[in-house]
Amino acid sequence: MSAATLRFDNSYARLPEHLYHRQQPEQVPAPGLIRINRPLAEQLGFDPDWLASEEGVALLAGNSTPPGADPIATVYAGHQFGSYNPQLGDGRALLLGELIDRHGQRFDLQLKGSGRTPYSRGGDGKSPLGPVLREYIISEAMYALGVPTTRALGAVYTGESVYRERPLPGAVLCRVAKSHIRVGTMQFFAAQRDTDALRTLAEHVIQRHYPEAANSDKPIVSLLVAVMQSQAELVAHWQSLGFIHGVMNTDNMLLSGETIDYGPCAFMDDYHPGTVFSSIDQQGRYAFGNQPAVAHWNLAQLAQALLPIIDDNEEAAVEEAQDALNSFPDRFFVAYRKRMADKLGLAHCSEDDQDLYEAFLDLLSDNNADFTLAFRRLTELADESYPANRSVAELFEFSDAYSDWLNRWQARLAQDKRPADQVQGQMRRANPLVIPRNHRVEEVITAAIQGADFTPFHRLVDEVTASDEQQDMHYARPPEPQQRVQQTFCG
Ligand code: AMP
Ligand code: MG
Ligand code: MG
Repeated sequence: MSAATLRFDNSYARLPEHLYHRQQPEQVPAPGLIRINRPLAEQLGFDPDWLASEEGVALLAGNSTPPGADPIATVYAGHQFGSYNPQLGDGRALLLGELIDRHGQRFDLQLKGSGRTPYSRGGDGKSPLGPVLREYIISEAMYALGVPTTRALGAVYTGESVYRERPLPGAVLCRVAKSHIRVGTMQFFAAQRDTDALRTLAEHVIQRHYPEAANSDKPIVSLLVAVMQSQAELVAHWQSLGFIHGVMNTDNMLLSGETIDYGPCAFMDDYHPGTVFSSIDQQGRYAFGNQPAVAHWNLAQLAQALLPIIDDNEEAAVEEAQDALNSFPDRFFVAYRKRMADKLGLAHCSEDDQDLYEAFLDLLSDNNADFTLAFRRLTELADESYPANRSVAELFEFSDAYSDWLNRWQARLAQDKRPADQVQGQMRRANPLVIPRNHRVEEVITAAIQGADFTPFHRLVDEVTASDEQQDMHYARPPEPQQRVQQTFCG
């Protein structure tokens, strides 16, 4: 094949021109392949061998634009750590175009790190290798865990240095998403008092992501509620896996409900709800335990932006938006309780069960227990036939402090009278063996930067995307004290 057979259909680039800026990627001197995501490539209509060839690498590096692509940088605004920034936008990313996959689903193809745009402000529009590898690993791990997320189609190095206090190898990530429309995209046009653009965008988002909202009496309120629901489910999913996003600014929240921006994100090792990794999150605004409240706050900014198109009568609009927003805590808790029921192997989660999981989380935090391993050990306890050589018992065992709680949980499991294999299947899916641990991610990045060795990177991607029967127990290990990563950094 060649790039000519790709099915591009660029609906965003057909919207009014002040929503974006047409922009070609910058040429890079000596691009080379790091990795392509073969299953995703096939899904999108690429021949994976072609994508891995010189021509494919040129596409991934931004050196050649495939026929049918129409590269643009989109404009947005956003609240960054609570302060409104009126002018952001794709400063180091370009939307190449949209592809319709095998199932008829539309996906954005975006290059991240492909050079300057009008929205670059002081930045160079480039990305160092580290953040590209990090995003590749974690976004694909999230996908494998079933979490809605942007994905990585491929990563290439550029053959040029990028300066971040010191020279670092440059790279480009080709990111795939159902769309890249953010809360901040709406905020930008609301701040401009551009009601036409708001309406156009809202219709675009409804068509693309929430078509049922079009049939409602109040399509914009329905859109708001639909975004709230997908964010409630998304953040509940994060909370169930110990995932800390790290930079939940409103420009990093997608209306599609997919996770985006894997800058300073990290999975928790020891469970502590106050955990923060991002070096720039000095106040702990985006600490693990704050994520649901921050999501609610961000959605309030979305509601605010949508007010002018909710109702011509401002008071009525505020009331409708407020009513919708008030339902967020319940939406989150319903989704979260469902996730926790899965983690504990329960058919349903009642209010009493809420007490059960809260007591477990308290025990984890009192005992500095590893979040992932503790739940995985529970999974094994729910089925005595669990193969010993696949057990995490060597890495984590419950101390006496857990005895009362374990008895209480066993008694509760017994009440459901469900077959052990059913319970265990449910728990295994909810309680992964391997997460992309920080110290492994750092190790991989160091090997790539210092030794140009991508073997550890490939291995880690393979491990975090494999089924649990195939995962190597080595990757389940939590960090030794000296391996512990204290801080993560934005790209
Ligand atoms: P982020 O912190 O990744 O959410 O990015 C916030 C904003 O800064 C976005 O508008 C980015 O496009 C922009 N940005 C981040 N890094 C760069 C860079 N190296 N060059 C240009 N713009 C950047
Ligand atoms: Mg961002
Ligand atoms: Mg970022």
